[in-house]
Amino acid sequence: MATVRDAFAYLFPVPCAGCGAEGRALCRDCAPQLAARVRATELPGAGTVTAALDYEGMTRAVLLGLKEQGRGGLATPLAEPFAAAVAAALVATPEAVIAAVPSTPAARRRRGFEPVHLLASRAGIRLTPLFLPARPHAVQKGLGIAERARNLDGVFALARPVGGVRVLVVDDVVTTGATLAAAAAVLRAGGADVVGAAVLAATPRRDGRSSGMLSNSS
Ligand SMILES: [Zn+2]
Repeated sequence: MATVRDAFAYLFPVPCAGCGAEGRALCRDCAPQLAARVRATELPGAGTVTAALDYEGMTRAVLLGLKEQGRGGLATPLAEPFAAAVAAALVATPEAVIAAVPSTPAARRRRGFEPVHLLASRAGIRLTPLFLPARPHAVQKGLGIAERARNLDGVFALARPVGGVRVLVVDDVVTTGATLAAAAAVLRAGGADVVGAAVLAATPRRDGRSSGMLSNSS
């Protein structure tokens, strides 16, 4: 069935963010690959981290299209798996408030938006602003685990009292978990009960240890 979107893609073809095929922002082959495959992993300092997708291949390409090429329309197909990860993470503690790891003002200026805020907004998830904007720090990529933790020392600070508040921390991607751990540590230091974290996508583990699959569908 032809849709308005089909007509639009015909008139204004764009490369698919997943595979580059000319046509629509996300082609019919790539779109189904964003179906959530929710799994949970224990990461030091971050606790139970629930992720909907593996951060590789076309998922990575689509997320980079959103974050680095400013293709805001991609937030809509990504919002569904993000919502699935958040919902799975909140099963045991539905009363927890949801706080996003803040980006630095420089990153926000460069992109013009905060990716995780856009995902939450498209998913209808209300974020509670518990953090101040992150202080400037070196890029985490390329750093070892201990270096990542040191690099994040003093980067996050609370915007309001959090004593006794149950909090789920959310972000778009988790790699080692150092960023989530640093944010969680600041919350715990303020007296919050961090129930875990939820992310859209997690870098697949290369250590051979499998993580627990929570469900095969969204
Ligand atoms: Zn595609």
